[in-house]
Amino acid sequence: MAEIFSNEPPIDFARRDNRERFAQTLEKVRGQFKERNRRRSSGAWLDSVNPANPKEIVGRVRVSSVDQAKEAIDRAARFFNEWRGTRVEKRAEILSKAADIMRKKRWELAAWEVFEVGKGWREADADVVEAVDYLNYYAREVIRIAAPRQTQQLPGETNVCFYEPRGIGAIIAPWNFPLAILAGMTAAALATGNCALIKPAEQSPVMAVHLMEILRAAGLPDDAGQLLQGGGELGAYSVRSPQVHLIAFTGSREVGLEILREAYTHRPGQEHVKRVVCEMGGKNAVIVDNDADLDEAINHVIDSAFGYQGQKCSAASRLILVREVHDRFLSRFTEAVRSLKIGPPEDPRHVVGPVIDAEAQERIMRYIRLGKKEAKCVLEMAAPKEGYFVGPAIFSDVDPASRIAQEEIFGPVLSVIKARDFTHALEIANHCAFALTGGIFSRSPAHIDQARKEFCVGNLYINRGITGAVVERQPFGGLKLSGIGSKAGGPDYLLQFLEPRTISENTLRHGFAPPENLRK
Ligand code: NAD
Repeated sequence: MAEIFSNEPPIDFARRDNRERFAQTLEKVRGQFKERNRRRSSGAWLDSVNPANPKEIVGRVRVSSVDQAKEAIDRAARFFNEWRGTRVEKRAEILSKAADIMRKKRWELAAWEVFEVGKGWREADADVVEAVDYLNYYAREVIRIAAPRQTQQLPGETNVCFYEPRGIGAIIAPWNFPLAILAGMTAAALATGNCALIKPAEQSPVMAVHLMEILRAAGLPDDAGQLLQGGGELGAYSVRSPQVHLIAFTGSREVGLEILREAYTHRPGQEHVKRVVCEMGGKNAVIVDNDADLDEAINHVIDSAFGYQGQKCSAASRLILVREVHDRFLSRFTEAVRSLKIGPPEDPRHVVGPVIDAEAQERIMRYIRLGKKEAKCVLEMAAPKEGYFVGPAIFSDVDPASRIAQEEIFGPVLSVIKARDFTHALEIANHCAFALTGGIFSRSPAHIDQARKEFCVGNLYINRGITGAVVERQPFGGLKLSGIGSKAGGPDYLLQFLEPRTISENTLRHGFAPPENLRK
């Protein structure tokens, strides 16, 4: 392993040869849908559809029953001692090998994402790159953490501290980063010697199959990591199981809070308190100060608010404009958004693609209707009728306490709020139960300093976009109702998957213990 961790570089789509190669890969992958669509047995199956064209089935997966989840937990429990006893270097090697395989398949994987979850080319590639980074990063981090540490040593006494795996981990993931988040939480559990039950979101089962194929090809034993395909009931079952020790969840606030409640309820036969890593939603604000570079701010806010249709936990959904720039920024910004092209993301001219499914489309449309009652709609773009599209919408004169300013919409909807001055803007930004990401655009050193101290978010970005945290460089995770746990892609993350132990030994021998063969 190299001394310094380096992130996988993204594909440069400014190069014609890369654009041609990706267009060909999309065609090739589309030609494989049939292979992934075959039902090979009876039972319940889940169809994964292209959100830009729901008639197109991208793949079909067999749904796991609750009985199968129980069987998987039993198998994991039986295998745990062997996996825990596997040398940490071996476990790290499997993950590094998986990263290598993933790197080789990165073009195809990104193409599958374009079809399965409606990501644009750059966004799909970024998710694959992040997954490679997680596998590599946790593989090396676990080696750093695994070495036992001697604490205070006294004459006649040794003391050592070290970490052990917890047991069985339930990995419950969302669909919006279908490879990176699933791979990241899974890699963390496996690297640290826990057996993993891997429950992807029901909207992105095909990406989960790819991840499992890669882990198996890298040598992951069958019972160390098991895939459970299906809906929330499978996640809920594993959360409640007294045999599960650890839950790594990323998803909505509602489900996260429910998981915390269930996981902390003690059940008969349970001899431990479960550990829960729980990353939830966001309602992220960007402040534009009166001296900001507006050209720069416009591009970054567009990207942060409407990149992947606003379906990122880190997306900007509140734009707070200081009074002096409010009108100027809003009119220029609105015109710039109006120029975005909407359509299927397999065509790279389309900046705005579909939202994930019909339910999301309906929810977002409900918020747009609500926004028209609560505030002034300055832009509502038309969207294609076929597919789960929603055109970007911008609301101005938004009351900071109103529902469109407080609830996570998870779509291309931006609420614009006017602030008297920068201090007021910070007050508005902090007046929210979520605290995941946030950003400011300002040229004032005093204001930048004030934001560093007072803008209460897990990840603060200054004069740049607020999405796209990079593994190791920007450890990621929120405060308040955005989550509990140490940051993903950071140096403390793996500790949550481990239990610390201390062993002290009195090394002053009291008498002589004869060797075994002299005892008789
Ligand atoms: P979701 O909460 O609906 O589902 C997430 C996962 O939980 C899915 O696998 C789902 O099947 C499972 N699940 C549903 N009900 C469950 C239950 N009762 N018990 C156990 N598991 C259950 O979220 P989603 O729609 O897949 O993802 C979008 C949400 O995720 C947004 O709120 C977004 O902000 C959040 N998110 C957060 C981060 C972060 O790092 N903080 C990253 C990505 C997404």
